[in-house]
This record gives sequence, C-alpha cells and structure tokens, in this order.
Amino acid sequence: MEKRFIYADNAATTAVSEEVLEAMLPYFREGYGNASSIYKLGRDAQRAVENAREKVAKALGAEPREIFFTSCGSEADNWAIKGTAELMAKKGKKHIITSVFEHHAVLHTTEYLEKHGFEVTYIPVSDKGLIDPEDIRKAIREDTALVTVMYANNEIGTIQPIDEIAAICSEKGVLFHTDAVQAVGHVDIDVHKQGIDMLSLSGHKIHGQKGIGALYIRKGLVLPNLIHGGGQERGKRAGTENVPAIVGLGVAIEAATRNIAEKNAVIIPRRNKLIDNILKLPYTRLNGDRDKRLPGNVNISFEGIEGESLLLMLDMNGICASSGSACTSGSLDPSHVLLSIGLKHEVAHGSLRLSIEDDITDEDIDYILEVIPKVVKHLRDMSPVWEKMMKGEKYE
Ligand code: PLP
Repeated sequence: MEKRFIYADNAATTAVSEEVLEAMLPYFREGYGNASSIYKLGRDAQRAVENAREKVAKALGAEPREIFFTSCGSEADNWAIKGTAELMAKKGKKHIITSVFEHHAVLHTTEYLEKHGFEVTYIPVSDKGLIDPEDIRKAIREDTALVTVMYANNEIGTIQPIDEIAAICSEKGVLFHTDAVQAVGHVDIDVHKQGIDMLSLSGHKIHGQKGIGALYIRKGLVLPNLIHGGGQERGKRAGTENVPAIVGLGVAIEAATRNIAEKNAVIIPRRNKLIDNILKLPYTRLNGDRDKRLPGNVNISFEGIEGESLLLMLDMNGICASSGSACTSGSLDPSHVLLSIGLKHEVAHGSLRLSIEDDITDEDIDYILEVIPKVVKHLRDMSPVWEKMMKGEKYE
C-alpha cells in the first residue's frame, strides 16, 4: 500500500481555492486602497467589497444591506447574541434559549451573559444529536429575548430542524439566530423563506481565507455595535475592511453554493462507504443521525482506544482527521458534543471525525479503509482498557 496524503478535516478548515486566491491577489497588489478613501483606488476597493456583499446575500437569499462582514464566525456569533441581549434587555427580556451542543463561540458567549444577569436555557439533544423543536416551544417564555441554535453541528454533523424552530420563534415573536458556519455550502439556505433573523458564517470553512466571516441581520432589526470606531459596514461594525478577504469570501460562497446537489451526490456515497466499512470493526458506533447529517461528515467512536493516538497514527499514514473539535484540541476533557448525545467519557475519548469533500477519490476512500482497521487493531493490541474489555472486566 503506497502512502498517500489525504486531507479529511474540512470541518476544521479548508484550503483556499485557486479561484478565491486569484480573485484576492489584485487587492494585495495594485488594488490595495482603503475602501473608505474617495479617490479611485479607494472607490475600486469599495466596489469590490459591495460586489462581495451581493454574492454573500445572493447565496443566502438575503439582500446585500442585510450582510455585515466580520473578522470570523466567532465574531458573528458574539455580535448576534450579545447584540440581541443588549437590545432586548431594554425591553425587560433577559432569557436566552440555546442548545447544549453548540460551538463554544455560542456557549461561552451565553455563559458570559449568564454572569451579567441573563438566564439561559440549554435545550438537550437526542441520542442521535437532534433537537426537538417542541422543546424550544416549551422553553419560550414571556421574557425570552433570543433562540440561538446551530444549523449543523461541527463535530457530529447533524442538521437541525431549522425551519420548524424558526417557525416556532416567529409564531411566538422571539428572535432567532443560527450559527451556520458548518452548513453554508453543504445545504440549501434561504434566510427569508426560512424565517431566520440572524445567521453566522465563516470564510475558512468554504475555501476562503481564515479570519473573515459575515453576519446576516434581517432588515429592520438594528443590533447595537460589537466593535465601535469608524463608519464601516454602515456604521455597524468598525474597522478598515479586509478587502482581499472579503473579495475572497464572495467568490468562495458563490462557488460553495453552486451545484450543492451535484456535489452531495458525489460525496454522500463515498461518506456512506466509509461509515459502513468502519462500522464493521467491533465495538464501534456512529455518532449522530445517519441521514440528517452533513454530506461529508463521519464521526465514529472506537472503544478501547484514545482519539489522540488514533489521530497521530493516521497522521503518520498521511491522513489528516480530527477527534472532537479542533478548537478544543489540547484539552483533555471529552467533547461536550459527544457527552451531550449520551456517550460515556471513555467512549467519547476514542472518537474520530473525518470531514470529506467532493475532491476525495475512490482510491482515497479505499486507502483510508485500509489504514483505519490496521491502526485501530494496533492501538487496541497495546491498550490495557481493551484488554480488560476483552476479559469482561470493569475498566472505568
Ligand atoms: N461555529 C461553528 C459551528 C464552527 O464550527 C466554528 C469553527 O470551527 C465557528 C463557529 C467559529 O468560526 P471561526 O473559526 O471563523 O471563528
């Protein structure tokens, strides 16, 4: 078996595409103007920013004036949640609803708000990693300011019933935000039709560069600023525009949302082949619903081994993957997402996330399927936990 290099960690980040890079380069070179300057160089930069805004809006079914560029997905989440909290607190509404398995950009923001007088309800998820919209309905109170629920989970890839949740929020007159960082480019989104009030996205998950994101804010909803300063982004988000990154985001989202169905028709059978074959190994389980999941997401737990050792051995074999969220790697705590769907700590520790795209070939899939059983066997052969499991002894 010849060693290959396979990048199967697209949920962590993606490579900047040629198309995006080509579009960005002129704005590092001759087009370096400040988009606020009135001479031609500045006006050209401004036009490029507005052109990108139109592309982002079109991809989401929004109007350009509803799109605000941010420095990343985390900033968009922070702005939506803290901004709504500040706005609604003035009306005496200090209750927020979210789910237990959001990204930390959301969870740490709601925890911050809890320390500042807000009350937060954390909706549980099912063992398949899905939220029941009726739980949201039951949690809504007179003083509920915001419901924020992620579109698709970053670890187990489950796609949430966003339309139903948005409909409940609209019926109850509560604002609804969704963190769609993992969903954009993989599922069809139309914020107006779906009744979404705010939506966060990030460039580096869709072949744009790192450090650029956007927040869609429905027309008529005026959030207080998160960043104060100059008059950029119609005075709502200060800071000289990162023109190359914004231009890149426009091209990236246009490409990502083009032919979603065709791309998924290629990815889903390959992902299913991975899942079906990996699950043939004993003591494995698929995390997250089998069907309501992102097309390229595979998340499997292997009992008796540590996810980190698995990742290192896959790396030695040229395969880049992830266990839990890359944002929390370095922490020894098991993933809050895997615990939320009922996994025991030791099982959550032995989990692997592969996130593939349509550039993965059949040969790549076969290679991964050759490497994983060997690596898992090797690690289990060395594992005292596995030995105890095999002898039927208690190992917790
Ligand atoms: N939300 C989700 C669901 C994510 O997966 C991520 C990144 O992994 C973020 C937010 C943060 O995005 P960014 O890295 O652009 O800050």
